[in-house]
Amino acid sequence: MSGPDATSLRNLPAVAAVLATAEVASLLERHGRAATTEAIRQVIDDARDALRLSPMEAPSATDIAQRARGLLEARMPGLRPLFNLTGTVLHTNLGRAVLAEAAVEAAVEAMRHAVALEYDLASGVRGERDNHLRSLLCELTGAEDATVVNNNAAAVLLCLNTFALGREAVVSRGELIEIGGAFRMPDIMARAGAKMIEVGTTNRTHPADYRDALNERSGLVLKVHTSNYRIQGFTAEVGARELAAIADEAGVPLLNDLGSGSLVDLSRHGLAREPTVREAVAEGARLVTFSGDKLLGGPQAGFIVGDRDLIACINRNPLKRALRVDKIRLAAIEATLNLYRDPDRLAERLPTLRFLSRSHADIEAQARRLRAAVAERIGDGFLVDVGDCHSQIGSGALPLDTLASAALSIRPLGSQRTLEHLAAALRALPRPVVGRVGDGALQLDLRCLADADEDAFLATLAHLARTP
Ligand SMILES: *Cc1c(COP(=O)(O)O)cnc(C)c1O
Repeated sequence: MSGPDATSLRNLPAVAAVLATAEVASLLERHGRAATTEAIRQVIDDARDALRLSPMEAPSATDIAQRARGLLEARMPGLRPLFNLTGTVLHTNLGRAVLAEAAVEAAVEAMRHAVALEYDLASGVRGERDNHLRSLLCELTGAEDATVVNNNAAAVLLCLNTFALGREAVVSRGELIEIGGAFRMPDIMARAGAKMIEVGTTNRTHPADYRDALNERSGLVLKVHTSNYRIQGFTAEVGARELAAIADEAGVPLLNDLGSGSLVDLSRHGLAREPTVREAVAEGARLVTFSGDKLLGGPQAGFIVGDRDLIACINRNPLKRALRVDKIRLAAIEATLNLYRDPDRLAERLPTLRFLSRSHADIEAQARRLRAAVAERIGDGFLVDVGDCHSQIGSGALPLDTLASAALSIRPLGSQRTLEHLAAALRALPRPVVGRVGDGALQLDLRCLADADEDAFLATLAHLARTP
């Protein structure tokens, strides 16, 4: 017959024959029977397709076992660690904050052992899972009470649902934010069952706009920190202090959604000022919400701090149960918050703050230290230079403030396509390296490369197959 080579197809080994080879014993030991058999079947299927396309000799059982090994070993976990050299410190797509060692250890202990999650060790009766964080959050923010949920989106949803279900929630048109990943204030309002009442205009909102909108149907006034954009020029907004008084007059709570929200004054660490949670509480908002994994530098979480009676209402909402946080994260949050009790050593211990406050000189020195070794591993065909760049904080925090940084800037000597290939090869490494392509260069911003990770970084690069 012509076309497919019938003899070769017939000579293709069966799965059982491959499983019987000596080569496979170690695969079974490492990957188990199901995964190994599946890989062998896939290799045989691929070989069959190849034989149908062009006549050649069928691979032997040992060949197939070897290819199956390659397949099994190439299957690396999707969430394996990578090097974030994008220059965006809190990169939402790369998991936002890198946790402090203390938080990592606490999470590991909580995973490994039983913990008093909802158990009061003093009395031996049932306790509350929020109790572990309540006093810490109150101490750090000056609030009366606190609760914690899955993320800040959940915190806002829960507050709206608790106080404005079937009622009206009043918000300025200038604060109807969209955060990446489909968090849009009008949609959240609708899902919370609140009727959104927009007041003012995009650029200007006045006290009277709020006063006119408040009535007996009002459930809540919402103030949103416009964390990822700024309105400039002919603008007016009602400050939180004044708005709190207006809401109080109308007998409804003011919720101030800070978004990132910082627990410390960041200008102390050379960064632009971002409102702190303590300030927002002191300004009179009855409820303040903020994220755990933005500037705070902890795991994903959403905090609600505020008046005791309001927090009690929130905790009685059945949605709270659906949005609660597990013991692993609670342990990590507690350990992270504990670091804030010693502000002098915070930058040393909290990776987010350590990365954000690194000086240009420090990063540039690291780039100079690594340049030759990186160039050697990247191989011929590229020029590797040390250049200036700008890092971003990320996650919508302080969007207009960039941080002077330094990068290894890699330019192809030949065509631009080789740059895309190099970027792809770096992403395919056992520990992927993710940079930023722009202006004809691949920039590796070293702001988030800890000194202790330099050896691991060079070792990873050594896996690069040389571009011919
Ligand atoms: C980021 C942000 C949110 C959402 O917080 P997540 O923790 O990402 O769920 C809500 N509101 C504002 C103002 C934010 O900046």
